[in-house]
Amino acid sequence: MITVTTIAEVRAHCDTARARGERVGFVPTMGYFHEGHRSLMRAARAENDLVVVSLFVNPTQFGAGEDLDAYPRDLAGDAAAAADEGVDVLFVPAVAEMYPSGARTTVHIDGLTTGLCGASRPTHFDGVTTVVAKLFSIVGSCRAYFGKKDAQQLAVIRRMTTDLDLPVHVVGCPLVREADGLAMSSRNARLSSDDRARASVLSRSLRAVTEATRSGERDAHELRRVVVDAIGAEPEVRIDYVEVVDALTLQPVDTVQHEALIAVAAFVGTTRLIDNVTIDPRTLSADLGVTVSAVEQESS
Ligand code: AMP
Repeated sequence: MITVTTIAEVRAHCDTARARGERVGFVPTMGYFHEGHRSLMRAARAENDLVVVSLFVNPTQFGAGEDLDAYPRDLAGDAAAAADEGVDVLFVPAVAEMYPSGARTTVHIDGLTTGLCGASRPTHFDGVTTVVAKLFSIVGSCRAYFGKKDAQQLAVIRRMTTDLDLPVHVVGCPLVREADGLAMSSRNARLSSDDRARASVLSRSLRAVTEATRSGERDAHELRRVVVDAIGAEPEVRIDYVEVVDALTLQPVDTVQHEALIAVAAFVGTTRLIDNVTIDPRTLSADLGVTVSAVEQESS
């Protein structure tokens, strides 16, 4: 694996690979790799010839007072993990490489970005779509791998890719969970041990709402209440939102008739965590993702 820091270098590697008829797989990240990231790298490795991972803690997707400075970082550990997963090119640009002075362009996706995380983080998705559009432009035609952990982000990136006719095939990958159900996140490293134990209430609340749907509950208000009540078992966990929305449009629904996303964000201590489940009432199937032990077994 080689580590590059300039746009010109990573672009040259991708262009050379495509000129040889090779397929390029791309995994955009903010680093501090865990099994969730590694599962995306493995998916990219399995389906492409050249695998590119970007590691960039993108300042424009953090709002004022958010955890940009406290965001966990470990470049040496990340480089070792990426090499271990067979990544070919690790792209680690400086902020000035991605945002040279004078930049004035922002990519904004309407509608999909106003609810859920967009309600409490109003500038977040503009930061995400701007940096991902730039990364797609740098890497060029490729398959790009995103986790369903960030369900709204995945929907927004798909919309952007379609709307801007970007030559990128977006692949959604399963949400990877710890053994106790907690969705893996770089931010979990910042939880105290007490908060770490409390945080598993989020996935328990989603299991509870999955059961409620399977028992026939379709009323979004009631389903939301199941999640809120379950999280209430941990009074230290402060809900940011619990929403029941259409899985495609991300618009709130009153009754769950089609595939629905039930999404939650909550503060555990000072750390904001998100989680979700996608439920299809017609088949009673629920996509809660996979546990890390299953992922590890599959890869060994
Ligand atoms: P991040 O470094 O947090 O920006 O995440 C980079 C990519 O990894 C995004 O596509 C995330 O959705 C994905 N990701 C993060 N956590 C998980 C997880 N627990 N399971 C699956 N994908 C994840």
